[in-house]
Amino acid sequence: MDPIKHMLAKPVPYALGIWGGLWLPDIDLLLLPILHHRSIITHSVLIPWLLFLFFKNRVPLYGIAGLYVGISIHLAADCLSATVGFGMIWTPWPFKMSLGPASPVWILVNAALGIWLTLQLAPERKLWTVAGMCLAASGYSLLNEMAMLPFVAFSLIFSAVLFIRYKMERKQGIDKTAASLTTERINSR
Ligand SMILES: [Zn+2]
Repeated sequence: MDPIKHMLAKPVPYALGIWGGLWLPDIDLLLLPILHHRSIITHSVLIPWLLFLFFKNRVPLYGIAGLYVGISIHLAADCLSATVGFGMIWTPWPFKMSLGPASPVWILVNAALGIWLTLQLAPERKLWTVAGMCLAASGYSLLNEMAMLPFVAFSLIFSAVLFIRYKMERKQGIDKTAASLTTERINSR
């Protein structure tokens, strides 16, 4: 691969993925006979997760990571609206029931999952992965939602995910050191 292609092999699908992910949840508006707006199917990490499950060898992984990011940003903005009518999350036809007061929980958990899965898929965690998230979140917040609050919501969810990951990694580190100390002790007997 020539050096320029090599350089763009990850950022380009990542950026395209984010762009797609920002709008993907609202394709439920095109499928209203089957899906209610704010459908549980599109307002979740389900679509990129299925893509990963079935097409991970054919779709660029950074593209899927981008989709997760875009959906998380969209959901962070959606979680700010009141939990009435279209503000709630809805199951598809034939039941079309709302999750009611559990809707914000669904939205928050899926937004956090999206960020979590991005960090899993882009393990190098290059600065540009996170920089891309922040840039897209601030752009979507200011240009599409005309407010700063969606960006704040995304940042809070992002920080919570980082905090949980940090705690888990630390715990794993402590467990590993404890395990190696025990084997050392056993070996020195
Ligand atoms: Zn939406």
